[in-house]
Amino acid sequence: MRALARAMASLELPAVEKISNDQKEDPFQILIATLLSARTQDATTHAASTRLFAVARTPRTMAKLGEREIERLIYPVSFYRNKAEHVKACCEMLVDRFGGRVPSTLEELVTLPGVGRKTANLVLILAFKSLDNICVDTHVHRISNRLGWVKTTQPEETEQALYQAIDRRWWPDINLYLVTWGQNVCRPTSPRCGDCVIVDRCPRIGVRRK
Ligand code: SF4
Repeated sequence: MRALARAMASLELPAVEKISNDQKEDPFQILIATLLSARTQDATTHAASTRLFAVARTPRTMAKLGEREIERLIYPVSFYRNKAEHVKACCEMLVDRFGGRVPSTLEELVTLPGVGRKTANLVLILAFKSLDNICVDTHVHRISNRLGWVKTTQPEETEQALYQAIDRRWWPDINLYLVTWGQNVCRPTSPRCGDCVIVDRCPRIGVRRK
């Protein structure tokens, strides 16, 4: 993890991290940006989030937007119609059930439309500075298995296995480190093992091509 931290210094941050830094860890914007980020390129997520937040920055103002308008603002993120529906429903629930604030527990967060454990964990880590959560997305799942830290087939399983496998002090950092590494070096197909700072310590499990 220390080697990755040093190597990452010159690499671009993931979109949700950038938004978190730019917006002073605003829980609402982190939540919405994470919803938009699923299966979408980082640059597209960042641009779509910026357009949406320029029009509405709070659950109350965003809940008043029409679904078609949200679609128009977030296009071309993948599944933009579903995501627009979730964004609107999520804002309405935040207003109706949580007084216009993003809740700070995993149990409450996963009751919001479109919010699963990945999004909830990332909101808790970035917005509420939780030290007790690990956020597992496709990069974290893939690289943890390549490194042999876990042997799992599903991200949910990986999250639970990582709580056992990884020293607690690294839990909040795993997502940032492995997402950044996954976008730049340990890519899904053809990972750049020759440029990887941890190649000597990586068993490269399941990697067929460099
Ligand atoms: S050595 Fe290759 S498989 Fe292992 S972490 Fe680095 S890029 Fe990924």
